[in-house]
Amino acid sequence: MYDNIKRLEDFDFSNKRVLMRLGLDMPLDEARNITDDTRIRASLPTVQYILDQNPKQVVIVAHMGRPNKLAKKGEDYQKALSMDVVADRFSELLGQDIVLSKDYMENNTPDSRIVMLENIRFQWGLEQADEPEKREQLAKRLASFGDIFINDAFSVCHREEASIYDVVNFMESGIGFLIDKEIEQLSFLLQNPPTPYIAILGGAKVEGKIGVIDALAEKVDKIYIVGAMEYAFRKAQGMNVGNSLCEGVDIAGKVLKAPYAGKIVLPVDTRIAREVKQGKSKIYNDKRIVEAGEIPDNYMGLDIGPRTVEIIAKACKAAKTVVWNGPAGMFEIPDFAEGTYGIAKAITRPGLISIVGGGDSVLAVTNAGVADKLTHVSTGGGASLEFLESGGHLVALDIQERKYAV
Ligand code: AMP
Repeated sequence: MYDNIKRLEDFDFSNKRVLMRLGLDMPLDEARNITDDTRIRASLPTVQYILDQNPKQVVIVAHMGRPNKLAKKGEDYQKALSMDVVADRFSELLGQDIVLSKDYMENNTPDSRIVMLENIRFQWGLEQADEPEKREQLAKRLASFGDIFINDAFSVCHREEASIYDVVNFMESGIGFLIDKEIEQLSFLLQNPPTPYIAILGGAKVEGKIGVIDALAEKVDKIYIVGAMEYAFRKAQGMNVGNSLCEGVDIAGKVLKAPYAGKIVLPVDTRIAREVKQGKSKIYNDKRIVEAGEIPDNYMGLDIGPRTVEIIAKACKAAKTVVWNGPAGMFEIPDFAEGTYGIAKAITRPGLISIVGGGDSVLAVTNAGVADKLTHVSTGGGASLEFLESGGHLVALDIQERKYAV
């Protein structure tokens, strides 16, 4: 897959100016300390590989958060979402100076070996514009900073944005190690991996995952539905879901009538509670476990129950390949995290090929301390889902593939 795209080995970076798009969107606490620097660490091998070839300059482009949303609320997005903390931490981990350029739209980049541009989404009117001409304006500006463009921001590859998509039209382009590995691992799921091959899909929105159900149904032996997604299926079956989060009932109904419906496995029990508002926060009373589809009025389903965890664990024991996307419950609250952590543990079996995608499931396997025992943990939530759904296509990679198609 993507055989024509250029990899790092296809370039000679010595004495070249290299523009790199990295995925460095990371969580900050209120004092703007980085609480998880995984994405910086994950980007280091590609950056180091290029630096080892003595390029003239490396210019890093990245984004953090959604500055346009903060701007709409009248908040100081330039301070809240500045890349300054990322540049500092990156520099520390790399052991080399990184200079942050805030005025790159007006002035040339500083004359230092490694430069990081300020949050590219501060230019949201150009970076994320619907009109290609506007995006091209920014893409051309970025292209003026380098001779070669290397994209290693897998998490943004499903977006048609100037710094990841349009820029390819104006520069020699290629991909870094992170994206190469993502392509290799996720394509594996779309080919014929060892069976039994199972999928575990959870989270809140059926809509976001229906395409993946369709795409995987032909390949997998079973699809285990967990999380709030389950309730859409139960409601479509005419069962009781109480006050549970329940979206996409029509879609779930269609899935249940699809030719592959026999592969869909729903939970057998549910952890429920009554949600009570207390000021601005919510508390959960009367926690208990009920049979699936028997959630009383005024109660919410918040996690899969222990018997369901057991069933999934057993399936993982027999399986040779598993793909997991989306938590089994509202795992941010410890009382409803058992299902999600139960799955994280179940997929960590030596010999089982385990591929996890999606921001929340990645957080779950990291919190459970099992991330490094899995075959592959994708760095892109939306991107990995879209890759699977489209049968292995992402716009920002397709444009590179087309550029070098022979
Ligand atoms: P998604 O973005 O669709 O992968 O959904 C992830 C979110 O689903 C997480 O924030 C979970 O807290 C939430 N979630 C999963 N199961 C439930 C549930 N039973 N009730 C409410 N939220 C849930």
